[in-house]
Amino acid sequence: MVAFRWMVRCQPRNVQLMGHKGGRMDPEEAVTGGIGSDADPDFDVILLDLDGVVYIGPHAVPSAVEAIDRIRMGGRRCCFVTNNASRTPEQIAEHLTELGIPTTAQDVVTSSIAAAAYLARILPKQAAVLVVGGRGLHEALLGVGLRPVESLNEQPLAVVQGYGPDVAWVDLAEAAYAVQSGLPWIATNLDRTFPTARGIAPGNGSLVGAVAAAAGRGPDVVIGKPEPALIQEAVLRTGASRPIMVGDRLDTDVAAGSRAGIPTLLVLTGICNAADAASAQGDQRPTYVAEDLSCLTSPAAWRAEARRTGSVQP
Ligand SMILES: [Mg+2]
Repeated sequence: MVAFRWMVRCQPRNVQLMGHKGGRMDPEEAVTGGIGSDADPDFDVILLDLDGVVYIGPHAVPSAVEAIDRIRMGGRRCCFVTNNASRTPEQIAEHLTELGIPTTAQDVVTSSIAAAAYLARILPKQAAVLVVGGRGLHEALLGVGLRPVESLNEQPLAVVQGYGPDVAWVDLAEAAYAVQSGLPWIATNLDRTFPTARGIAPGNGSLVGAVAAAAGRGPDVVIGKPEPALIQEAVLRTGASRPIMVGDRLDTDVAAGSRAGIPTLLVLTGICNAADAASAQGDQRPTYVAEDLSCLTSPAAWRAEARRTGSVQP
């Protein structure tokens, strides 16, 4: 009876959110602790974070492969969004396909792709851009008709910085000189660290910090999560009208989805747990919480998850 009241109370809020388009989500309208409504939300595009949602390290998340297959069989599109700037969409698609999730580059949006799209909108065709980063960033710029260069002497009109394993001091110094000269500075993301087999390594945010320390200011634009630009680019590319952002982290995935003005689903297969979700505030408050991706496979699965999570509410 108590659970029933909880679901009735939450349902109108969720229905309102499902029709929500554009602008920022009102955090007070977010519901945490479970799906909370058995009304099928009918999302047309599922935006998926990768690590902790689809795979963990080299292995697929249990149930993710089957869930994504069933989501697609039901006519919904899956689009993978990642802050990873060093790999190309083709490389990521190949990795997913190897894990049993057949994927093409068109279904992957990286922070490099979104950064290049942003630059293409503000710069003239064939403009030179000083690149500090890896192959993914170089190829993304070439893909939108911009010209990656490595020196301020080549008269770039902007600086773009993303993680690349071969980024060296000379690259960071060149970026610092360019930023000091007043060029706009775009960072693909500000993830300070990332895990490797040998321990925690510096991420793009750490290298951006090195340039910022020299230049005396931070980047003008940040593309990746928790900022909304990556999500907005994915919505644009897929033509989604009823998207949902699915992730395992409140401070990146959920925050980015909220800032992009779309509903969010926290899955408990990665970093954050149900207690984290229950105590989350502001734009880190997810619209929905579920054990894994299975709830998105069908209206019946959604109803089952709503019943399950509704039954444990106070
Ligand atoms: Mg993740």
